[in-house]
Amino acid sequence: MKLTENFTFDELTSTSHNELLEANRESAKAFMKQLKYVAGTLEEIRAVLGVPLRVTSGFRNNALNKAVGGSATSGHTKGLCADIIPVGLNVSDAFKSIIESKAQCPSLKKCIIEKVRGSEWLHIETKTEANQPQQFFITTNGKTYSEVKA
Ligand SMILES: [Zn+2]
Repeated sequence: MKLTENFTFDELTSTSHNELLEANRESAKAFMKQLKYVAGTLEEIRAVLGVPLRVTSGFRNNALNKAVGGSATSGHTKGLCADIIPVGLNVSDAFKSIIESKAQCPSLKKCIIEKVRGSEWLHIETKTEANQPQQFFITTNGKTYSEVKA
């Protein structure tokens, strides 16, 4: 099922924890509105970067969130967040481009560049109200976050 032109329900509810996949997708059905918001934000970012985005984690129900070590208050459990890797683009360069083009991502609330245990990805949070401010952070341990002035 498509949420937007380029993003599907399946990819925003996927997990490599196969035993938790079906229950995760069942839980996700209660978050359709939020998942559409996230997909809309991913469309804005995709347009700015000019490349497809690989979604490595989207909605996570509590069991899946626990299994991947997510924080108990994670926006992933509310259907408001996605972790992405831009295909064929350096993650740091992508982060800079998003900051430079933040006005073209009006539904983006928060973008965090995560450089944790040898992996790099972008954590994206969508706005739930239009007047929310945009914020950019970097973390190297997944626990403490430094704001990047944009
Ligand atoms: Zn995340």
